[in-house]
Amino acid sequence: MQQITEKSKLLELIETAGVVGAGGAGFPTHVKLNAGLEFLIINGAECEPLLYKDQVLLQQETLKLVECLELLVSVFKVPKAIIGIKKKHETLINRLKQYIKPPIELCLLEDFYPAGDEQVLVFEATGRIIPEGGIPIQVGVAVINIETLYNVSRALEEQPVITKWVTIGGAVSKPCSLQVPLGISVGELLVDFLAVELEGMQVIDGGPMMGKLVTDFNTPVTKTTSALLVLPREHPAAVRKQEDFVKTARRAKAACIQCSYCSDSCPRQLIGHHFRPHLIMRAFGFPLTQGAYFKDAYYCSDCGLCEIVCPNGLSPRAINSFLKTELAKAKIAREQKDKGNLMANPQRNYRRMPSQKVKKWLGLTAYDVPAPFRSLKMVPDRVSLPLRQHIGAAAAPVVREGDTITTGDLIAGIPKGKLGANLYSSIDGVVSKVDSERIVIERR
Ligand code: SF4
Ligand code: SF4
Repeated sequence: MQQITEKSKLLELIETAGVVGAGGAGFPTHVKLNAGLEFLIINGAECEPLLYKDQVLLQQETLKLVECLELLVSVFKVPKAIIGIKKKHETLINRLKQYIKPPIELCLLEDFYPAGDEQVLVFEATGRIIPEGGIPIQVGVAVINIETLYNVSRALEEQPVITKWVTIGGAVSKPCSLQVPLGISVGELLVDFLAVELEGMQVIDGGPMMGKLVTDFNTPVTKTTSALLVLPREHPAAVRKQEDFVKTARRAKAACIQCSYCSDSCPRQLIGHHFRPHLIMRAFGFPLTQGAYFKDAYYCSDCGLCEIVCPNGLSPRAINSFLKTELAKAKIAREQKDKGNLMANPQRNYRRMPSQKVKKWLGLTAYDVPAPFRSLKMVPDRVSLPLRQHIGAAAAPVVREGDTITTGDLIAGIPKGKLGANLYSSIDGVVSKVDSERIVIERR
């Protein structure tokens, strides 16, 4: 790893390599790190059931990751770096302890869901509360996940982001965590390279709580894909993803008994936010402009925990998700509230949701087996690389149809003056399609 001492050079390398948050919405990492930080938190909580790739990556690349973190801390002059990891990963913790030294520390988390939620983790690691609608930097913190740190370490070697670590789990004979080329289709990866039988199966892109159903097996693996979970079509965790929103909305209006269990358990409420999903449920049905609490839907993280506690099987999550879309369409902006004086719920430690309960509720206990590292060389027939795999402006293509491309070539760049991320080819090939959405490359 290069021993870089200048902040600007470090940021330039990270930006050039196209590093974005690999565990969430894909926020460009060079922007996140370019702030006066008091804490840099590495999110290793991996709180969704069946996901293992961050633990595997941490196990495989411990020294590289710790060295990279030391460099970030030194160059950005961060007073403290904290790796958030669940207490139950004893072997990994002991391994980390051999390498880390102050100002790098561990924050050992209980096994609850959603320990990896950015706002929850910031509270657990620092005791600071990000305001409702706010971001970590407002409390002097940046959070990046394990794989993002890995991609930063590769950027320091001038290696662009062209692969993705994913967990393959659920109803597969050999669950595993492996590195795959960006843009490979879900179908080619699972069927051709991993011999997974997809007949009668559904695939979830991401964790079973917050992931999305893959409706087309040509869907590519992107910079934010964390897992591909294969489940029988009728499995409750898969059925839950096929919700008929009309029915969900009708039931919300008819069957909410205002018990407020959803609010009492909501992780955002527990860290001190005034967000109360049961009040949104009560108002649901009124026009957008008349629901005093509707704008609060923006503060929902989509964690889905409210669905577990609701005695009537309702989904405040789905209602909030719907409202967020409607509010955005109506150009009703998100507001930041509570600029200070927030206090965590004193009962928080007792109300956190044990991960085991989430697994059981989802019916996934039988699939809860480790997904160890697997090394597999794969060269897909084609890759499809969306121009928007990150927050910000779509990357602007710098190649044309018919161009011959080598692995690691820049194919789309950050539009001038915009927030965005570069995009590189993950295979040797010929560009077969360039449109406003994606670049497709066929293997040579
Ligand atoms: S999904 Fe439910 S529990 Fe999670 S933040 Fe939103 S309202 Fe709260
Ligand atoms: S837990 Fe269910 S029934 Fe109770 S207030 Fe929330 S949505 Fe309504």
